[in-house]
Amino acid sequence: MESGRRHGALERSTIAALGDLWLRDVRIAGSPAPTDIVIERGRIASVGPPPAEWRAEAIDCHAHLALPGLVDGHAHLDKTLWGQPWRPHSAGAGLPALIENEREARVELAPVVERAAALLEAYVANGTTLLRTHVDVDPENGLRAVEGVLEVAARFADRIEVEVVAFPQSGILAAPGTERLLDAALRAGASLVGGLDPAGVDGDAAAHLAIVFGLAERHGCGIDIHLHDRGPLGRGQVGLVIERTRALGLAGRVTMSHAFCLCDGEPEVEPLLEELAEQRIGLATVAPAHTSPPPLERLFELGVPVCLGQDGVRDLWSPWGDADMLSRAGQLAWRAGYRRDADIERCVEIATTQGALALGVDDLRLSPGGRGDVALVPASCRAEAAVAHPPRALVVKNGVPVAGSLRSSATRCDTRDPTSA
Ligand SMILES: [Zn+2]
Repeated sequence: MESGRRHGALERSTIAALGDLWLRDVRIAGSPAPTDIVIERGRIASVGPPPAEWRAEAIDCHAHLALPGLVDGHAHLDKTLWGQPWRPHSAGAGLPALIENEREARVELAPVVERAAALLEAYVANGTTLLRTHVDVDPENGLRAVEGVLEVAARFADRIEVEVVAFPQSGILAAPGTERLLDAALRAGASLVGGLDPAGVDGDAAAHLAIVFGLAERHGCGIDIHLHDRGPLGRGQVGLVIERTRALGLAGRVTMSHAFCLCDGEPEVEPLLEELAEQRIGLATVAPAHTSPPPLERLFELGVPVCLGQDGVRDLWSPWGDADMLSRAGQLAWRAGYRRDADIERCVEIATTQGALALGVDDLRLSPGGRGDVALVPASCRAEAAVAHPPRALVVKNGVPVAGSLRSSATRCDTRDPTSA
């Protein structure tokens, strides 16, 4: 099966605008002095001044730091209460109580379209240009949430690329009818099939994974599985996912979300990490407050793709989250105990270029050929940007300014060479 993504929002849509833009006087990591970025038809054409004949919108960036567009690799747009009145947390402790509380309370919420759109506005303002969201699919909800999020994703396609995982939040075997609905969600436009604690929630890991991998094979899509199960129970399921990924030739198409069982430092983890690297199975972390972060240094050494997410943002699961992936990168560095710039900057990479790689996107970078997705912040370096996470001064998607207060200093490059026509 071919690698890479088959039907991301951008590929599906032909409406994404591709712009020409000259970002003057930007700071770039690794560059000793401020420079320029030139974007042509949505792609970075050069780092440095444009040729004399260049004609396009120019923006003076006052030596702000340029980052590649930020990436949320694990979100839940359909669950958010963003933009809604404050709602005190009402769920009991533990996964079953959280799932049940949501099932009961979600009927009172404003439509998915309204809440997801409000949250995407915040993501765009914070410089996010690529986002993977899991969206609930279950017999009560049907495809309502998937259709709502797909509608909003299409509306925002010029500003942020959104890909949808059809997510069985109530289990598959535990909620009869869900397998058929997942199949329908993939036909409706979801890009990946999700899973949820095949053993812990559904009680039969082999049967759950047979359905998930069967759907992926049938639809030629990727997989992203939530795994909260810890210890030997969790590790056994990671082993099963690796086995099936290898058997079906799905290397590079599978992500494990959370995978707390790989974060406890037990010696049995190491061989699994090596196999994750071999099968290019990604790991999505949300820098959780209640458990250790993944063994980042070892994952980097092995080359396991890692992405970072907000998970739920102000929802029935938790009141936390701010739709700011720079603040989340700082949180990951803080949870990991990092203090040195180089370590903190690895977390910014996970929230940008490395995170995109984990989602199968290999052209998010500030170099020629990279996609013209840029977030500008008033910071001297990436470590300062993660620690202070100041408001984004400018956000550019495919060469088109989409948020921020920096404005064009000229509509044409008529200051560089006034004699050329
Ligand atoms: Zn999640």
